[in-house]
Amino acid sequence: MKKPSLLTQILLAFVLATIVGSIFGSSAEVVSPLGTFFLRLIQFVIAPLILATLVTGIASLGSGKKLARLGAKTVGFFLTTTLLAVSLGLAIGFLFSPGEGLNIEPPAAGAVEVNETEGFVTTLLNIIPTNPFAALAEQNILQIIFFAAALGIGITVVGEKAIPVRRFFEGFADVLLRITGAIMKLAPIGVFGIMAPIVGNYGLEILLPLGKVILAVAVACILHVVIVYGLAVKTLGKVSPLHFFKGMAPAALVGFTTSSSAATLPVTLKNAQERVGVSKETSSFVLPLGATINMDGGAIYQGIAVLFIAQFYGIELTMLQIFTVMLTATLASIGAAGVPGAGLIMLAMVLSSAGLPIEGIALVAAIDRILDMFRTGTNILGDAAASVVIDRSENKNKPIEANELAS
Ligand code: ASP
Repeated sequence: MKKPSLLTQILLAFVLATIVGSIFGSSAEVVSPLGTFFLRLIQFVIAPLILATLVTGIASLGSGKKLARLGAKTVGFFLTTTLLAVSLGLAIGFLFSPGEGLNIEPPAAGAVEVNETEGFVTTLLNIIPTNPFAALAEQNILQIIFFAAALGIGITVVGEKAIPVRRFFEGFADVLLRITGAIMKLAPIGVFGIMAPIVGNYGLEILLPLGKVILAVAVACILHVVIVYGLAVKTLGKVSPLHFFKGMAPAALVGFTTSSSAATLPVTLKNAQERVGVSKETSSFVLPLGATINMDGGAIYQGIAVLFIAQFYGIELTMLQIFTVMLTATLASIGAAGVPGAGLIMLAMVLSSAGLPIEGIALVAAIDRILDMFRTGTNILGDAAASVVIDRSENKNKPIEANELAS
């Protein structure tokens, strides 16, 4: 009998986890070390992998002009899709009205601790690492991107003498991608170990009252993925959406399970390069950046959550509040780190700038892990769609097709 493909194995692990979680409830927690085992393995390759692929990618761009052009296009695409995402979130929020007629206790004022988010200027300044090795040690992705960009540009400027440095990073990147491939073989075990306790701990009692919010987020994410990314890869990227979605499915599933775009990054890079066929140059620039600043799923969630909370408290949003939400949700999606639960913290910022009760976040906190899965899966597919579109615009005639089916 033929061994099932990796994707099939991951899907089976999902189904099995759901069954085991539903039968054993919170006792399913015993399998969580399997999840931690897989998570630690993928986290272990992130920092060196981003550094190596990005240095290689940027060094191969040649001139500073090309880097500036690629950067502008990428950020432009990210912003456009994020704005579309928050608009869709608001529209679905109006349509589903998940907060109306809800019969749960409102949280008391002060029920949630709100962490102050850093100011805009500080956030920008923090991109520059005072110590690049500390940035690697702390896995600060934006700072690693800065370090890699500086090294990549430096290699280009120095030229001949820097060829050994460039070769080193090229080889290093290949080795790390190979390690990622080996780790991915364990993905079904990891997915099972993460999912079974989640299903076990979230009994129907938690999910049912807020079922409409979950449904609204899921529907909006699926619509956004199919319509916006499907159209973008087809019309702008000239790639069949089926090829794209099939190629990226393992990354989307790992993102869905782990709820972290940063942790999934090695898988996203590998899938985009090997299963979809995006060039190394483009993917190693667009994907790490996207995992850090492009969160369409997060923006959808902000739109729906804000409407849900406003409806729950019986507040009619004014046009000005809606614009504020669109703007701050976009900023929140740039500022949120690609780690589990980041969107929930950012929701506090969006609520307070729109003058809505911040304690409303306690309403969605109970189901955040579930919502996070949908938004993270969407975030990852958004980064991948961007890499396809940008790759096409950089290499007009190059066929984008899988060069090695990883499984
Ligand atoms: N968990 C999300 C991610 O890593 C961020 C969020 O919470 O919205 O993409």
